[in-house]
Amino acid sequence: MAGHAQRLDGIPPTIFSEMSALAVRTGAINLGQGFPDADGPASVVEAAVSALRNGRNQYAPGIGVRELREAIARHQHRHYGLDLDPDTEVVVTTGATEGIAAALLGLVDPGDEVVVLEPYYDSYLAMIAFAGGVRRPVTLRAPDYRLDVAALQAAVTDRTRVILLNSPHNPTGTVLRPEELQAIADLAIEHDLVVVTDEVYEHLVFDGHRHVPLCTLPGMFERTVTLSSAGKSFSFTGWKVGWATGPADLVGAVLAAKQWLSFTSGSPLQPAIAHALDHEWRAYEELAADLQLRRDLLCSGLAALDLDVRIPEGTYFALTDVRALGWPDGRAFCLALPERAGVVAIPTQGFHDDQEAGRHLVRWAFCKDAAVTTEGLERLARADLRAPPGSRSG
Ligand code: PMP
Ligand code: GLN
Repeated sequence: MAGHAQRLDGIPPTIFSEMSALAVRTGAINLGQGFPDADGPASVVEAAVSALRNGRNQYAPGIGVRELREAIARHQHRHYGLDLDPDTEVVVTTGATEGIAAALLGLVDPGDEVVVLEPYYDSYLAMIAFAGGVRRPVTLRAPDYRLDVAALQAAVTDRTRVILLNSPHNPTGTVLRPEELQAIADLAIEHDLVVVTDEVYEHLVFDGHRHVPLCTLPGMFERTVTLSSAGKSFSFTGWKVGWATGPADLVGAVLAAKQWLSFTSGSPLQPAIAHALDHEWRAYEELAADLQLRRDLLCSGLAALDLDVRIPEGTYFALTDVRALGWPDGRAFCLALPERAGVVAIPTQGFHDDQEAGRHLVRWAFCKDAAVTTEGLERLARADLRAPPGSRSG
């Protein structure tokens, strides 16, 4: 008897857990999984403690506690000029991860096609498969990792149900530009598609790049589910508080699926994130400014190793091509890295259908403290990172 259900066939264990376990096992510096060294604002922790102490410990409503839904609506208004009804157009999820699952399970029927940017976040692959959907990747390609509009148009068929987007994009660091967003909107409207857009890095953009939510384009609100999360904006990745927003019918579909996943999300962290959204928005502005410095530190250090680095416009990840060091395979490189250098990074080949485009790509996180990043870079600089002779490429 097989050890698992067929729906898990072809879905490998998440690379983030694998690589973080490798870092713990080898004592390596973890420049892999995206979680910061520094926690978010103390007042938010205090708000959670207060909620724990003051009886916010039983089930929250499935849709999420009222003050958080209202704070999310205020956040969407403040930043994007959107007017959301917190009773019907907002649902709290257990991280964006549950938002992704609930959106796909709530909106995709078996056989429906889901057009998705690749490299794709690994849970998209699993959740499209769980929903019985068919993945139609559109590749963001080196060197600039921009959206190929012709490829996107070619990926849409009469079986397409959903376009699944992510901007700012993990792992390439691409922030979709207005003309790219407009091309997506035109296509979605022409083919009457739903768009699920994962915007967890909405506040982590650099160099004056601006994140524009797709749902703010004309004709898009009614067909867009927008996902976000407090994890990245407020540096509380372990809290797993996320949300989905959009028109009542689509948010209703997300909630209809969510109720069978977690039923409701953890109660006491929700008022704390409401406090964060209302009062601690400077935290993500400061985080973005500080991350830009750490991005520059990491990227210049990686470039000094002769790695081909893509300077990210947003997120806290930088993508490199390790063929410059003779490695045709990013996974082999990452598995050798702890022993060679005492550092862990993430191979992103599992986020690609197109292995020609993705086999050699490796992602590095710059959300770690500057001192940790510097130590990681020093270890890399001291190490012999060249591929063993037999395995070399170009
Ligand atoms: N989407 C993307 C693109 C991510 O990088 C992450 C990691 N934060 C998630 C979703 C999951 O978010 P959460 O931790 O809120 O579940
Ligand atoms: N999203 C983070 C990353 O991309 C952490 C992994 C996860 O949430 N599964 O590294």
